[in-house]
Amino acid sequence: MTVSIAEILEPRLAALDLDHRLQLVREFIPGRLVFTTSFGVEDQFITHSIFTQGLDIDVVTIDTGRLFPETYTLWEETEARYARRIRAAYPQAAPLEALVEEQGVNGFYKSVDARKACCHVRKVEPLSRLLDGVSGWITGLRADQSQARADAPLIAFDAGHKALKINPVIDYTRDAIVEATQEFSIPVNGLHAKGFLSIGCAPCTRAIQPGEDERAGRWWWEQDDKKECGLHVGEDGVLRRGPAKPAAPEVFG
Ligand code: SF4
Repeated sequence: MTVSIAEILEPRLAALDLDHRLQLVREFIPGRLVFTTSFGVEDQFITHSIFTQGLDIDVVTIDTGRLFPETYTLWEETEARYARRIRAAYPQAAPLEALVEEQGVNGFYKSVDARKACCHVRKVEPLSRLLDGVSGWITGLRADQSQARADAPLIAFDAGHKALKINPVIDYTRDAIVEATQEFSIPVNGLHAKGFLSIGCAPCTRAIQPGEDERAGRWWWEQDDKKECGLHVGEDGVLRRGPAKPAAPEVFG
C-alpha cells in the first residue's frame, strides 16, 4: 500500500507550530509552493513566518479591483516591512468588461448568481492562474472563522487545483494570531479595529456586531450560512476538504 504525502505529513504537522509547519512542507513537498494572501490577520501571520524564515514559498494575492483603500495601504506596508514584492493576479480585461456590461458596475447585489459570476471573474479565474502548475497551495483558513470551515483539514489533496492544499493555521484561534501579530509588530489591516474581522472586497464587506460569526460581514445581504466566494469550494458550493485517501504524488512509496 502506498501512502500519500498528505497522510504522512498531517500527523507530523499537527504537532508543530506555524514556523515549523511551513519549514516541514517546504522540506517535503517538491516543486513550487504558493501562499495566497488577502491580507487578513491570519494571512499576515503566515506572510511574516515565510518572509522572516526566508522560505522558498511565493506570496501572492488577487487584486479584484474592488478592495478597500486600507488593504492597498497594508499591501504596500507589508512589502516595505519585509523588502519583498507580493505579486498579484488581476481579472482578465475582456471577461470583466463583459460582466460589467451585462450586470452593471454593482450588479453583484442583484442575486446570488450575479454575485458568484462577479467572484468568478474577479477571484476564481485569477486564482486558477496563480495556482497553475504549483505542487502546494498554502492558505490562511481557520476552523473558527465559520461553520463551513470548521472541518477543513490541515493538509489534503485539492483535486480541483491538482495540488496539495495546506492550511497551516487551521487550528489557531483568532485571539492567538492577534496576540502573535502584536508580539512581533506584524502590520495588520486598520479595518480590523473598526469591526471588520474578515475583509474582502469593499462593496461586499461590512463590520460585524459582537457575537456574530466572523464571516457574517461578507455578502451580508445573502442568507446562506455557507457564504464563500468560490476560492475554496467545489462546483457544488461546498468547501473542498479533499478525499480521505488523496491521490497526491507518491514520493514516499
Ligand atoms: S466579493 Fe463582491 S466585488 Fe468582490 S468579486 Fe465577489 S461579488 Fe465581486
